[in-house]
Amino acid sequence: MKIGIDLDDVVWEHFGPVLDYINEKNGTDFKLDNLKTFKIWESFDISREEAFDSVKSFHDSGKMDEVSFIDGAREIIKDLTKGNELVFVTSRAPYFKEQTLNLLKKNGFEIPIFFSRHLNEENGKTKFEICRDEKIDVMIEDSSNHAVECAEGGIKVILFDKPWNQGVEYKNIIRIKSWMEVRSILK
Ligand SMILES: [Mg+2]
Repeated sequence: MKIGIDLDDVVWEHFGPVLDYINEKNGTDFKLDNLKTFKIWESFDISREEAFDSVKSFHDSGKMDEVSFIDGAREIIKDLTKGNELVFVTSRAPYFKEQTLNLLKKNGFEIPIFFSRHLNEENGKTKFEICRDEKIDVMIEDSSNHAVECAEGGIKVILFDKPWNQGVEYKNIIRIKSWMEVRSILK
């Protein structure tokens, strides 16, 4: 089976550390549970530009180097490499590309990675287009938009249950809460 794996908030924590960073910097109290879409500016009192700048300065600050992995992610991804073909598919911004590659390498992941079109870009393939062209059978994801696009295109999606993807239901989407559940589904 060919399995696509998203990075942020699937392999490692992302929105939590980003909100912590913004709160620390701006004296705000943005809570992860109140993040209702993956567009930070739609849930909190922050402009789109400020949100993008904050995410960029969070990454530039080197905070992601002390990444927290989602429970079970590392071990289960390693297990899944036996008998499956794995690829990472991320829509991280192009300016995080080098940093992302380094972070994966530093943590011992030797899995090919595809960068899909970032939220703020107009070029590049969407995550669904990459999944389709790479013949990915199952995509493990947390973003509602990517999940729905993939599911509508006939790709099975395992969706991590997060505050920002509530209410997303589709026949090809299975909602789960942990990597342990991912493992049992894929067995
Ligand atoms: Mg993600």
